[in-house]
This record gives sequence, structure tokens and C-alpha cells, in this order.
Amino acid sequence: MLEILFLLLPLAFYSGWRTAYKKNRSNQNNSNEVSTRFVQGINFLLNEEPDKALDIFLEAPSLDAQAAETFLALGKMFRNRGEVNRALRLHQHLVARPDLTNTQRQAAMLALGEDFFAAGLLDRAESVFNELLKTYPKNTAACMPLRRIYEQLHEWEQAFELTECSVVDKAERTQLMAHYLCEQVEELLVKKQLFQADEKLKKALSIYPQSARVQTLLAELALARGERRAALSYFRQALIYDQRLLTSLVKRLLTVFTQTLELQQLYEVVSTEYRRAPDAKMLPSLAAIAQEIGQGRSLIPLMHQHLQQDVGNVQTIACAARYLTHETSSETQPILAEVSLALGRLASTLPRFQCANCGYKLHEYVWRCPACHHWDSVQSQ
Ligand SMILES: [Zn+2]
Repeated sequence: MLEILFLLLPLAFYSGWRTAYKKNRSNQNNSNEVSTRFVQGINFLLNEEPDKALDIFLEAPSLDAQAAETFLALGKMFRNRGEVNRALRLHQHLVARPDLTNTQRQAAMLALGEDFFAAGLLDRAESVFNELLKTYPKNTAACMPLRRIYEQLHEWEQAFELTECSVVDKAERTQLMAHYLCEQVEELLVKKQLFQADEKLKKALSIYPQSARVQTLLAELALARGERRAALSYFRQALIYDQRLLTSLVKRLLTVFTQTLELQQLYEVVSTEYRRAPDAKMLPSLAAIAQEIGQGRSLIPLMHQHLQQDVGNVQTIACAARYLTHETSSETQPILAEVSLALGRLASTLPRFQCANCGYKLHEYVWRCPACHHWDSVQSQ
């Protein structure tokens, strides 16, 4: 690919030269000078000295459409190869040229912003993309990269504003908007700004009523207001919308709901969900609550059934083994207890979640994959 582009580059340069030559046929000295530089540039390419070749080619007296496209393609290739400095040099040069058409300048500005982003210079990238949007409001190509910058900077309000122009799919758009509002709500809850959190949640609910995250935050808001019954109801709704939350939610719920009656209601919620959609991955959470209310032994038949019929995973097998240890005879109990402990240790080291988009593995559920930055792509294993 590099070779092809380097072959195209002299053509682009030559094209620029021809344009200049046509404009000024009478200036023979000038055309001779350009021809000499053209040969020099090719020599640098042949000697694998791309920077020196770039020095020569970037001095092309004028650019036509073909030359500008070739420069843009070459800059993109530099960036993709990790040679961001070369890409930056090329695109900065293009943006500064007075002879670009509007379309060429917009493409060059977009490429320059992407170079700054690739170099980790988010403020410079933000500035270029914003200038592009301000100068050419009809060109929305900068919306998506700019939204991603605001995501990285946790500027959720700006990210929200750019969702409309950057996401075509309606379902994806509403999902993202709800997440951006939820991120703001989490910050407001930490600051105890409950009224503002309530306003944002109402907006999120109207945009995406089936969001499990909105329900968990409604529950957190209810808890912050001391409305425990309402909180349990919202948590329940969150579980109905998204069972993946169970493991992380149960941890949270067991620290919040400590009274016997509340725990019994919690057990009822989780066991109802299990009966509605039986999934062995729910067993450890169900068992954790059952033990809190002294009903651990009632789950033993379920554990037998799991070991005999389900595929399961290390966490659920470890949970079943721990339960069944109490059932064995006093002679075999120490052995089974040892196996159960070993399984438990193994289970605690294994990630329980994985991103469906990039394969990144995690121990805790998160809304946005820290590796590929996709939202709602984390699944339980
Ligand atoms: Zn990912």
C-alpha cells in the first residue's frame, strides 16, 4: 500500500506542476525548476527517505483534485501506520494552503483533527473539529469524532448535544442519549444534587423508557430520598429489563437492604426473576440472598439439578459444590469442602464479564467497555 501511494505521490506532484505550468506557460525558468524538484523527490523516494521526499512534494506550486486526494490518502496511511507526525505535517500543510477548494479544505481539516486525536492531543483535535463545524455547519462529519472526544473528557452534556448529528440509527441514538444523561445523574447523585438528578432522569426516561440503567438510578435517587420501598421496586424493574445486572446489583442491594422483611422481599424479587427466565448464572446471587435470610438449604434441590443438567460456569459450579458440602457424610465432607474451596478460589480469579465487541474481559459489569468504548456491549460469560 505504501509503495502504491508513493508511486501516486509523484503523479500528484506532477499534476500540480502541470496545473501551474498551464497557468504560466511563458515562465520557462519556473517550469524547469519544478521539473528538477520533481526528479529530486522521486530520488528521495527511491532512497527510502520519505521525509525528504515530502519536503519536496509539499512545495508543489498548486494542487488539483487528484493531487489533493492523493495527499489525503497518504496522510491517512501515515496515521494508520502510527506515523502520526508525518500525517500531521501533511495535513497541516494542506489546511494552510490558499489554493484548496472548500471540499478539499473540509477533508483536510477533518483529517487534521483525526491526526491530533490519534496523537492524544484531544484539545487540539477538539478545536479543529469545532472550527470545521462552525465554518461549514452543513458538514456533520466532525460530529462523531468530536462526540468521542467529549466521551473521553467526560463532557457528557456536549456529547449529548452531538448525538443527533452523529448517530443515524434511532435505537442507538436513544440508547446513547440515555447513557449520557445517566452519566450526568451519577455525578449529580455524588454531589447530592437530587433535584437536578431527578430532572435529568425524567428526560432519560422519556427518551429511553426501557433503560435498565435509568431504573437503577431512579432506585438510587429513591434511596437518597429515603424511599426504600420505591427503590426496591425500581431495582426490580431494572432486573426485568436486564438480567446481566444481577450480580453487581445484588452486591449493592445486600449492603442497602439489611432488614429481614426487606431481604425477604429481595429474595422474592430475584427468585421470581429466576422462575421467569431460569439462568444458572443467577444461582450465586440467589444463594447469597437465601443465606442472608436463613433459607440456604431450600436451594439444595436446585443445586443438584444444576450440577446434573446445566453447562454452567466455574462460579455456579463452585456455588453448587459449596451448598452440597453440607449434605455429604462426615467422612467425605472434608474432601468435598476442599474441592469446593479450590473451585471458589478459581472462580474468584476468573473474569465474569466479556465485551461482545472486542473480547475484553472484566470482573465487574460496566456500561461502557473500557477497551473499545462501546456502550452496552459487556455480557456475562
Ligand atoms: Zn470492548
